[in-house]
Amino acid sequence: MSSILALARPDIIALKAYSHASWDPAFERLHANELPWRAETDRSLAGLNRYPEPHPHELAQRLAALYGVTDAQLLPGRGSDESIDLLVRGFCRAGVDNVIICPPTFGMYAVAARIQGAQVREVPLLRAEGFALDTAGVLNACDSNTKIVFLCSPNNPTGNAMAPASIERLLVALSDKALVVVDEAYIEFSGDRSLTSELSRFPNLVVLRTLSKAYGLAGARVGSLIAAPEIVALLAKVIPPYSIPQLTIEAVLATLAETQLAVQRARVAQVCLERERLRTALATCKPVTKIWPSVANFLLVDFAQAEAVLAAARAAKLLIRDMRSVSPSALRITVGAPEQNDRLIRSLA
Ligand code: PMP
Repeated sequence: MSSILALARPDIIALKAYSHASWDPAFERLHANELPWRAETDRSLAGLNRYPEPHPHELAQRLAALYGVTDAQLLPGRGSDESIDLLVRGFCRAGVDNVIICPPTFGMYAVAARIQGAQVREVPLLRAEGFALDTAGVLNACDSNTKIVFLCSPNNPTGNAMAPASIERLLVALSDKALVVVDEAYIEFSGDRSLTSELSRFPNLVVLRTLSKAYGLAGARVGSLIAAPEIVALLAKVIPPYSIPQLTIEAVLATLAETQLAVQRARVAQVCLERERLRTALATCKPVTKIWPSVANFLLVDFAQAEAVLAAARAAKLLIRDMRSVSPSALRITVGAPEQNDRLIRSLA
């Protein structure tokens, strides 16, 4: 067993995967207790009366090609939320193991860990250094029961990317001790290179990607866990069979067709332009005290009167996110369509 796999829960390593009904589209299906007819409203290609492929290979292959990795390195799931859940369930023994998170950051790392009964250790990002990663702090917080360090780059809600050298330092120091999970949900908006290119150097690296942001498929629920093949194989035992619905598989394959990819890339470019336009406009708005640098599709903004700003946005029929519990006087604004951004700016004037 590789030293990385040895970090996983022994009962999950020993687990025998559920044996699902065999999948062979060349045969007619009298083995899965389905109804033989489609619903009259069913417009899917394959028919929703049939179970989807238990572990959808074409989808995995398409995602692997999109992210430049091999099929064996990628596990599709119901959004990165499910990838996060699979990691803590596969690696953390309840009541024994712990994970490290670096707040302010995406809330699901801590929630998923707590659901699994893992302890959550917080090593805050260094606010005075633009929310930089505290690598020494993370290493100090690790002990022999630390199984996962969750990093988010670009980070939600701050919008900054972590320095690759800081992440590499953690990957080296924790090489056979803990997984370093880098959540790249927003990387398409940054133009930065994904850490997937470093997978062969670091067996403890896990990269999370999602179709929910740059690909406009949040409602389809598809994320990719990208890691060493033995980690992917282990977590494929934990994910339920048929977890990706047929409608989602079909929507993803259509959206990732070459012509559609060009459309999505143009939209990402437009969001980045709008982000800079919004930043410039917000800088002249009176209640704004600081706009944090962002390479994502949102801006973290400090306001003199955050409450009044929330109310003004609501009056303009816009929701923005209250982040005061994680960063004093901060609100997070998702970059919208030009008309929405204009409406927000007018509401603050
Ligand atoms: N990671 C980060 C950093 C996020 O901000 C979000 C969603 N807000 C997710 C993961 C969840 O993504 P998904 O829709 O793929 O579950």
